[in-house]
Amino acid sequence: MDNNQWEPKRRIEHQLQRSLSKVGESMLESIEGLTDPFEITTVIRSWLKNMVFHHYAEKTAESLVTTLLKTSATTWRMAARENSNGRVIYDALRKELQGPVGSSVAFQINRNAEIIKSMPLDIARQVTNYISDEAINGRRSEDIADDIRAKFPSITRNKAALIARSEVSKTSTALTRSRSESINIPAYTWRTSEDGRVRKSHRHMDGVIVFWSDPPAPEALISVKSTLGKYHAGEAPNCRCYPEPVVNLDYIKWPVKVYRGGSITMMTRIQFERIA
Ligand SMILES: [Zn+2]
Repeated sequence: MDNNQWEPKRRIEHQLQRSLSKVGESMLESIEGLTDPFEITTVIRSWLKNMVFHHYAEKTAESLVTTLLKTSATTWRMAARENSNGRVIYDALRKELQGPVGSSVAFQINRNAEIIKSMPLDIARQVTNYISDEAINGRRSEDIADDIRAKFPSITRNKAALIARSEVSKTSTALTRSRSESINIPAYTWRTSEDGRVRKSHRHMDGVIVFWSDPPAPEALISVKSTLGKYHAGEAPNCRCYPEPVVNLDYIKWPVKVYRGGSITMMTRIQFERIA
């Protein structure tokens, strides 16, 4: 099967980014004409309690997760067709919302909604930092206020892009994981997006089989200092890697690199079957 079938569709990321940019546009309208920088941060912070915005955040998160769930179900059905155990996968997909996948979906909707709801706080912090830096430089507050409004579109656009990139991958990985575990698929192949921006530590993981129960610390594996620790494909900020579930051992080109307990080793199919 084509590898990148498992990669979350880029259009889902763009859709989320657009929805989040709309929040930025509305926030900008709400600070229109304000000349006092502190009043600007107060208005931005007031968004944290804005119920219309909360509702929008929840709807946006729900639409993200259900869209990811639907598009990846297609990939799972394709995998089922190529698998001797296909029936198990079909049945699991049909009933999944009643089981652990259903709770994972609810959890992911909630998690994403909270991240979107915290956008005004992050933006307010950035603006506050800017104000104090500029005030130290002795700038007039009207000028600072003008600057903030001028910078606002790019601040919110960057924020929207970062959230969309990171959370689409993270959410997609979480859904793949819960689906895999619900049908006893213990491992996946780490895939990179191959778009040239892949970091070295993730390039090192490309094509390596990883067990869901034993996430690697990709930076430590190439002796790079990092606070990221252990995580699965797609779970690091700004990461576009994704897990391709090991649905059928016949489709793996043996021997293959396998990550296990802190190191990567080459394994034959027989060696792998012994630990899987
Ligand atoms: Zn990555």
